[in-house]
Amino acid sequence: MVSSHAVDYCASRSAATPLLAQENARTLTPTHPSRFRRWAKRGALALFAAALFAGAASMLLPNVPLNQDRSTSSDDRVVGAVHMHTRLSDGSGTVDDLVEAAVSEGLDFIVVSDHNTAEPTRYEYRRGVLVIVAEELSAPTGHVMLLDVDTVRASEPDSTDRAFGFPLHRPLGDAGLLLVSHPNGRRYWRDRSLSTVDGAEIWNADSEWRNDTVLDWIEALTLLPFRPALGMMALVDRPDRNLALIDSVSAVRDIATTCAVDAHARIRITDDFLIPFPSYRMTLGLVQHHLRLTEPLTGDAERDGAIVTESLRRGEGYCAIGGVADAAAVRIEAAGEELIVAVPPAVESARIRIYRDGTLVEDREGPELRLPVSEPGSYRVEIDVRARLLRARRLPWILSAPIRVGRSPDDPPTSVLGGFEDDYGNRHEISDTVWQDVGTRYRVEEWRASQQYLIARLDDASAPGATAWARIDWVLLGDESPWAWAFCISDWDARTYAEARASGTADRTDLRTGCGGFPFSRMRPIP
Ligand SMILES: [Zn+2]
Ligand SMILES: [Zn+2]
Repeated sequence: MVSSHAVDYCASRSAATPLLAQENARTLTPTHPSRFRRWAKRGALALFAAALFAGAASMLLPNVPLNQDRSTSSDDRVVGAVHMHTRLSDGSGTVDDLVEAAVSEGLDFIVVSDHNTAEPTRYEYRRGVLVIVAEELSAPTGHVMLLDVDTVRASEPDSTDRAFGFPLHRPLGDAGLLLVSHPNGRRYWRDRSLSTVDGAEIWNADSEWRNDTVLDWIEALTLLPFRPALGMMALVDRPDRNLALIDSVSAVRDIATTCAVDAHARIRITDDFLIPFPSYRMTLGLVQHHLRLTEPLTGDAERDGAIVTESLRRGEGYCAIGGVADAAAVRIEAAGEELIVAVPPAVESARIRIYRDGTLVEDREGPELRLPVSEPGSYRVEIDVRARLLRARRLPWILSAPIRVGRSPDDPPTSVLGGFEDDYGNRHEISDTVWQDVGTRYRVEEWRASQQYLIARLDDASAPGATAWARIDWVLLGDESPWAWAFCISDWDARTYAEARASGTADRTDLRTGCGGFPFSRMRPIP
């Protein structure tokens, strides 16, 4: 929320600062100094009075603790905070300061992620908190958090593509856990299919506050000195674009998701003027990652670090934003034929929404919801609550990770099945066995939905005697309405299945020229 990624360590020192200073100097130079000073004084007095009044009024609001009074973690669940910076890059404190904040907020684990540290991931217990010291890498495609990577070879952002083979290949084979930071933030992630990573952040506190209105800010700044927890919450919104991206990808394959605090404990005003705000504690208290463990923790840091990393990769859990109630008591699980969502009774105003592959399928107020899930797909739960800030409104509280129900990620994905029209006005009919366009008919031999490609053969009907194999790569566009996805025929005349499969050279990060020098063809659904 209120820390700054504008201050990325890896970013070149901004040239904007001196310009800004000049501009301020210009606008603030009064033509009539005395009159200006008089007005400035009056303005400041009025502002001060207004702030005092609003502050006093805010004292009447209930004091919301930030995720306090949490029920204790169980054997199979832990609560932590992910993505934070120390002085090693662009944060203002130390790992011990973060641990201090984590202890105050009752967290079980934290993932520290300074920029481009080029260090192997470390695990240790400090004051009972499992500390995972990972890294946030500046890759050409955006920022990505690396966990469980033995050796990070590159500290120079410019050389990371060479060192890692970014953006198309994972580093170090299949080692490590790669989670995209702020996929829609200022430094957004360019590969919208997330094809080279394990997952992405659902929520990032740092990019979150950038889309707030003046009214939100007035409310936040008024509340902060008196009710910091409420002040932080005034800037919370539903992360629409992240959720759209997560939905579009999880519809076709399983991905990991995290809730990121992206704590810096400083805001950079100019190069040498920093405000140490908001504190680590405020940010770590604002959004927490409730994680279901693959197995109970042991007390051994190395072992537990591996368990938490593996659990993050499997990705079962939810984000809890703000301290409206005991989020650890929330229950979200698929049991048999039902998806069960239960909220502690103390939360009176809960509204539960359930999405399947990005489509809203249930929307109900109340403490409990049982939804029959006969339809396979990727389900996601959102719970919002009524919050009384200076303005009463509903705020997102719980955002669950995607929950896979009854379908293998390599089955044909629903998002690319049906009737579509491409960029050139050609129509395509795609079923799980046939891809028919204007002049060509492909028989689909294999769906590799988790890797977003398929292997097909030209059908005899459209090319008599044809034996050619084809590979078609696709990428989901997520938020480029009306275009839903785009494809590239990587190969159309391979002699064998293996040859077709090995021909995957499409570059999903560059839709203009990524298809062998040509653009991908975008597809929009025909209603
Ligand atoms: Zn970042
Ligand atoms: Zn960061």
